[in-house]
Amino acid sequence: MNKHLLVTGGAGFIGSNFISYLLSNSTYYITNVDYLTYAGTYENIQPFEKSNRYRFIKCDIGKDNDLRSVFDQEYETIINFAAESHVDRSIMDATPFIETNINGTFNLLKAVLSGKARKMIQISTDEVYGSLQPTEPPFTEETPLAPNNPYSASKGSADLLVRSFFKTHQLPLIITRCSNNYGPMQYTEKFIPKVISNALNDIPIPLYGDGLNIRDWIYVEDHCRAIHTVLEKGVAGEIYNIGASEEKTNLEVIQMILKQLKKDPILINYIEDRKGHDRRYSMDSSKITKELGWKPIVSFDDGVKKTIDWYKQRVLERR
Ligand code: NAD
Repeated sequence: MNKHLLVTGGAGFIGSNFISYLLSNSTYYITNVDYLTYAGTYENIQPFEKSNRYRFIKCDIGKDNDLRSVFDQEYETIINFAAESHVDRSIMDATPFIETNINGTFNLLKAVLSGKARKMIQISTDEVYGSLQPTEPPFTEETPLAPNNPYSASKGSADLLVRSFFKTHQLPLIITRCSNNYGPMQYTEKFIPKVISNALNDIPIPLYGDGLNIRDWIYVEDHCRAIHTVLEKGVAGEIYNIGASEEKTNLEVIQMILKQLKKDPILINYIEDRKGHDRRYSMDSSKITKELGWKPIVSFDDGVKKTIDWYKQRVLERR
């Protein structure tokens, strides 16, 4: 029998890449629940509608009553991507981050508790671990949570709720924590799409502080394969870190993209640093490699080329 998944936030960047990946690489049926906030793009999900293994329901996971219509059947697994995800917005107003990232996750956990889904995978982030000094070893699953901004605090809070429902109710729950993703279908407020689209349009590219903050980059399809692996082989109660060991300063990323696009570095515009800006993230993903056999296959150079090609194509289509 084909199994039915409930994917939340499937109109966003990673969720839409994940659904696309599963429609091509599995036989799962998928219900996509998304509230279509500014970050969720109908354009991202329109191609899925030709599949008879896919349906879309517009719903706010933060509202328990709204979710009732979604649970018209029992799901095999909930995969919770839905979130407010932009740190800068959380600094301006954290309210929607609390409502979606914490209350929304709580509502889904209650659904699992009441038997409306058998399992749940919570899609979390390396940002819950806080910030590393330049010489510190990468984050492992044992690293204590130390979030520094309202976004990462809301994701860390959700992770703790998931942990508590596993410990208290013995529900089959898994947490994945991934490093910074890049690739097609990401909203242009985020770093790499903003660099590419500003460069393509010869608009100055804002760069926080000294530009030397380090992120550990992973191509989104590698992340999607990792979640698929966790879906098939992950162990209840476990946390899996996911990363591709591609640490780059923000300045290095901009320079690389400008070089590929043959644009002048004069476009780089240093601006005042973000409040509470984490200096460095780095992920140790040896656990998922050793225990589940996943490893990343797309290098940063190749992934950035594919990403640039996708955004170039989109700019051309819109002209
Ligand atoms: P995104 O902002 O692109 O997409 C989020 C999606 O959630 C959007 O489609 C939005 O409409 C939907 N959504 C927001 N509030 C909702 C609500 N109340 N009810 C239903 N849907 C709602 O985010 P993303 O970059 O695709 O991230 C997806 C998940 O992965 C998030 O949980 C994020 O914390 C996590 N994550 C992201 C990264 C990254 O680099 N982007 C890295 C690690 C983990």
